[in-house]
Amino acid sequence: MKVVLPDSSELELPDGASGLDAARAIGPKLAEQAVLARVDGATRDLRLPLADGERIQLLTTRDTQDSDALAVLRHSTAHLLAEAVLRLHPGVKIAIGPPIAEGFYYDFEFPEPISEADLESIEEEIRREITEGRSWTREEISREDALARFAAEEQPYKAELAREAEGTISLYTQGDFTDLCRGPHLQDSSPIRALKLTSLAGAYWRGDEKNTQLTRIYGTAFYSQTDLDAHLERLEQARARDHRRLGMQLDLFHFDEHSPGSPLWHPKGMTIYNELEAVRRRENAKRGYLEVKTPLIYDKALWITSGHWEKFRENMFLIPGDRDEQTYGIKPMNCPGHMLLYGSRLRSYRELPIRYAEAAPLHRNELAGTLHGLTRVRYVTQDDAHIFCTENQVAAEVDAAIDYVRYLYGLFGMEPHAELSTRPDNRLGSDEQWDRAEAALQSALDRHGMMYVIGEGEGTFYGPKIDLHMTDVLDRSWQMGTIQYDMQMPERFGLTYMGADNTEHMPIVIHRALFGSFERFIGILVEHYAGDFPLWLAPVQARVLPVGEAHREQGRGLRDRLTAEGFRAETDERDETLGKRIRDAELEKVPFVIVYGDRESDEALAVRKHGGGQSTLSLDGLLERFRELTEP
Ligand SMILES: [Zn+2]
Ligand SMILES: [Zn+2]
Repeated sequence: MKVVLPDSSELELPDGASGLDAARAIGPKLAEQAVLARVDGATRDLRLPLADGERIQLLTTRDTQDSDALAVLRHSTAHLLAEAVLRLHPGVKIAIGPPIAEGFYYDFEFPEPISEADLESIEEEIRREITEGRSWTREEISREDALARFAAEEQPYKAELAREAEGTISLYTQGDFTDLCRGPHLQDSSPIRALKLTSLAGAYWRGDEKNTQLTRIYGTAFYSQTDLDAHLERLEQARARDHRRLGMQLDLFHFDEHSPGSPLWHPKGMTIYNELEAVRRRENAKRGYLEVKTPLIYDKALWITSGHWEKFRENMFLIPGDRDEQTYGIKPMNCPGHMLLYGSRLRSYRELPIRYAEAAPLHRNELAGTLHGLTRVRYVTQDDAHIFCTENQVAAEVDAAIDYVRYLYGLFGMEPHAELSTRPDNRLGSDEQWDRAEAALQSALDRHGMMYVIGEGEGTFYGPKIDLHMTDVLDRSWQMGTIQYDMQMPERFGLTYMGADNTEHMPIVIHRALFGSFERFIGILVEHYAGDFPLWLAPVQARVLPVGEAHREQGRGLRDRLTAEGFRAETDERDETLGKRIRDAELEKVPFVIVYGDRESDEALAVRKHGGGQSTLSLDGLLERFRELTEP
């Protein structure tokens, strides 16, 4: 048989040859360094056979940044972790141990609870295993044998997994530890050059709170110590920028247990919120959107029509009717209200496109365990809009939305990139409709030269979509907005327009939110800027520090002048030393601090910029500078 290599050359191999055989046929060095095969884009254990005509790529210990190569390394480390834990804590029950984005975890039921302090000895034990050397072998067994084996070992979680496993059941063994596992795994432990167990957490078996609570040990591993060091450094920076911590420190917002996942915005946080809202309104007006306002609660019947009752009810907050009334649902999305608006009268093709915009509060009943600061909330406000248009107008509308999003993210020095999700197996509409819809979305991305990946089959059942991501200063990618093509909801609501041919047609709806949500966007901005906001977003733009009591009157006068010009200014008249007041302003990341004493006047102000630099400016000069820095 033949397989195709990445350079498109063909490699002749005996029938049934594995990835490792292919590596050996190319060279002994490659065979030694190989960690994983990628076959037609999917990963495959090196030990498994290849088939004629497959396109293969062999990943090695040099693919240190490849996410698949890292996953196989980390998954293998998770097995070493389980081996170590079984040795150090006899009687422990083992559950599952997958690789995750930045590392791996393994879930255990310990006979006695353990603490963070135990991680050190476990880590040491893993290092010992690596020094001794471990290699993995793979075998396939029958379900009966697997069940018998895990029953004998008194491993109920593994037995449950074996009972329910679909397809081939395989075991991986290293040292004296055997795990039920689909793989893939490394050949041996030598590529694991750096590892760290990072934390402990509680986790329910299968994520269900009715089940036993297990102990999850998180860790990570890399192909080099340098990579681990860089990773830990990034984590440290991320911790320092964590918006939940900075949100408190900068007095922007907080959360209260009486309403989990719903931020309480403080005045300073609200200032940032309102600045973004002003951008939304200004740009929407420029770009032909029509601002609307629709109800927050609707009769259950509407949610049945929209399909949310069937698909989204678990995430909705419901208000059961007492007094025999109907059940109401609090809206998790604006779409149904906008469908009602559109459908309120007969529409002509001449009116299209219609672009309804609304930034209403939405509620989604996210599981408590998944809530995370502002980036995962229950109270969420999207910069939402629904565009009703003809099929021929879709391309231009998507084009305009991408232009809009580039402008928006550009305001924060961030470049958007995208994922285009195409037709899933389970879908509505004809292939021709999908061809045209996908082409319209893709051509808009191409025209803008936006970086994107394609998520084959990842679209929704009602149409293809573009998910928008941005990369922050720590090089972390965040999913933000979305542009979704919908050929279903207009149909459910029986929406039409009268065409030029005098017959009724169904409009297409484009759902789009570009910031995504204000909550999440602000959470990410706090981390992106580490709280050091550009002048136009800063909650307090200037703080005036009168040197002594005698200067307070002049200080207030200066503050009032700045305020009258539309800037956010305040005075700090506390009985603290000037040095202390300057330091506090630095900590609060106030962009400009103006010291006012005997030597200062409107002609000569002492202006300190946050993060460095002191200059003397006239009041007019200062105002000029402020205007430049806050220009939209
Ligand atoms: Zn495994
Ligand atoms: Zn929508």
